[in-house]
Amino acid sequence: MPRSNRPKRKKGDEVPELNLDVIRAGIKKTEFKNGVEYVVQTTTGSRADDDKVWKCPHCNQNIAKGTAHTVAWDAHRDVSTRRHFHNPCWKSFQGKLL
Ligand SMILES: [Zn+2]
Repeated sequence: MPRSNRPKRKKGDEVPELNLDVIRAGIKKTEFKNGVEYVVQTTTGSRADDDKVWKCPHCNQNIAKGTAHTVAWDAHRDVSTRRHFHNPCWKSFQGKLL
């Protein structure tokens, strides 16, 4: 009986191809701050349909359009808790999202 014709493993098979859509959309991950789990996503802020200005809740300054920044929301609440932070502000943010 012939052995099953498994395709040969090529070098690099384990590495998934880069998904440009994911990179463009930002990479989503989770982070804990003060025991609260947040979904964190980076964004370039340059999407054509993002025609608005966000106010960073950490420093109360606006995030200019086209500025790479961090979007975070409470993983156990809904996305209405989503806030836009400057990247360094998110790093130092330790409070809870309202
Ligand atoms: Zn800020």
